[in-house]
Order: sequence, then structure tokens, then C-alpha cells
Amino acid sequence: MLRSVLVTGSNRGLGLELVRLLAQAEPPPHNLFACCRQPESPGAQDLVNLAKSYSNINVLKLDVDDFGSIQECADQIEKILGNNGLNLLINNAGVNFGGDLNEVTPETMMKSYRTNAVGPMMVTKALLPALQRAAQLNDKFKAIVINISSILASMELFDNKSGTTYAYRVSKAALNMVTKCLADELKLHGILCTSVHPGWVKTEMGGEKAPLTKEESVRGILKVLSTLSDKDSGSFLDWRGQRLPW
Ligand code: NDP
Repeated sequence: MLRSVLVTGSNRGLGLELVRLLAQAEPPPHNLFACCRQPESPGAQDLVNLAKSYSNINVLKLDVDDFGSIQECADQIEKILGNNGLNLLINNAGVNFGGDLNEVTPETMMKSYRTNAVGPMMVTKALLPALQRAAQLNDKFKAIVINISSILASMELFDNKSGTTYAYRVSKAALNMVTKCLADELKLHGILCTSVHPGWVKTEMGGEKAPLTKEESVRGILKVLSTLSDKDSGSFLDWRGQRLPW
């Protein structure tokens, strides 16, 4: 049973759908921390409205680029959780600037690296005590960190149909290495870490041509999550649970 879950970038797209479907789970999590960088902005209105219908949704401010914001959010979560732990962290927030060699800039490379790779790692670091408590308290459902990655980061599956998109591909490949390192370091604590490709999904990032709806993708991800075990830690799965090559 998922007692407590945190989703980053949950004001729109896949993050909002994750919160929507998790809130409806049976039984629902006690605490669903729905994090976004500007909870008071019009861009978070759908999330704020959703939270009005579910008393277990806590909308919290979290900008994964801002290490002060990450710590403030972690401190708030510690207060709410008390002695309880965090069972599931979904590092979903991400940016995609696109761009081939002609278009890529040092700024888009660094910004992507910060949001897509450094952010998830620092969020995990700040929430480690809460994840460790969950893993200690719960034998059946340990603690899990899901890094939402992309098939575009796979070197073996590289084809240029989606363009070279340096900043995105490189930052998500770095995130995959973060997954590997976390899985190795956290296994002693009973915490699993897995990279998940959500499929090509109709969101602002995925665009209208994408074949999957948010609901299809998120239902798949949640099913994959429910079957994760030690052997999946440090692996790269898609929303159907199929293993992807790095
Ligand atoms: P969207 O562009 O629709 O949403 C991105 C989310 O990330 C928004 O909530 C955005 O918040 C948030 N975000 C961006 N930067 C930050 C930050 N610094 N701090 C906190 N939140 C931030 O994208 P999707 O929902 O499609 O993507 C979700 C994840 O899935 C991403 O990691 C993406 O790379 C991955 N993915 C998506 C695919 C697709 O086809 N859609 C395919 C493969 C992977 P704000 O509103 O404030 O900008």
C-alpha cells in the first residue's frame, strides 16, 4: 500500500495525471505531495482545483532548479510525515528545449542538465531520510524512486527521427546514470530506483501528434510500479514494463 507519494512538476502534463490517478487509487495514499514551482500561478489552477476534491493532496512549492526550494519543501514534508516515511518519489519535472547542433547553446545544455539530471538527484538526496524511514517501516512495499526519463536517452535505440535534440537527450542520459548510481547506493537501505520512459504522450512537451493519452501512459506507469521488485532497481523500463537498453 502506498502511504505517501511525492510527484514533482505536478501542475500539468503527466505530473498532474499522476496525481489525479493516484488520488483515486484504492486505497488512496495518506499523503500525496503534489509539487510544482508556482502553486499560486494560473498554470497551477488545475492542480489546485483537483486538490479541493481530495483531502490527501498537499500542494507544495518545489522548483527543482533551486536547491533552497528543494530543502524548504523537504523540511515541510518532514513536518507533515512525522515518524512516517515517503514510499514513492516520482521525479517527473522536466524540460525539453530541442535543438540540433546549429541551435543548441551552452545555456540550453546547462539548464537541461540542471532540471533533468541534477534536480532529481538533489530532490532524492533531500528526501532520503523520509525514504529510508519508509523502507525500514514497511517490509512489503519498500521505498521507490522513479526517474521519468525518455527513450531519446537510449544510445542503443538512437535514431534521428526525433532529431538530435542535444540538450534533452544528453540530460536524460545523465539522469539514467543518476538512476544507476542511486540504485546501487540505496539498495542497502531497501530503496529501489528505476528510470521509466512514459511513452510518447500528448502533453505540452509531447505535442498533439503523440499516440498516447496521459491517462494511458500513467495507468501503464502505475501498473509497472505496482510490480517493481529488487531486480528492477537500476533498470530502464517503459510504461508497459518492457526493459529498454541504455
Ligand atoms: P510538460 O511540459 O507537459 O510538463 C513539464 C512539467 O515539468 C511542468 O509541470 C513544469 O512546470 C515542470 N517543470 C519544468 N521545470 C521545472 C522546475 N525547474 N521545477 C519544477 N517543475 C518544473 O511535460 P510532460 O508532462 O510531457 O513531461 C513529464 C516528464 O515526462 C518529463 O520529465 C519529460 O521529459 C518526460 N517525457 C515526456 C514525454 C512525452 O511524450 N510527453 C516522452 C518522454 C519523456 P511549469 O508548468 O512550472 O513549467
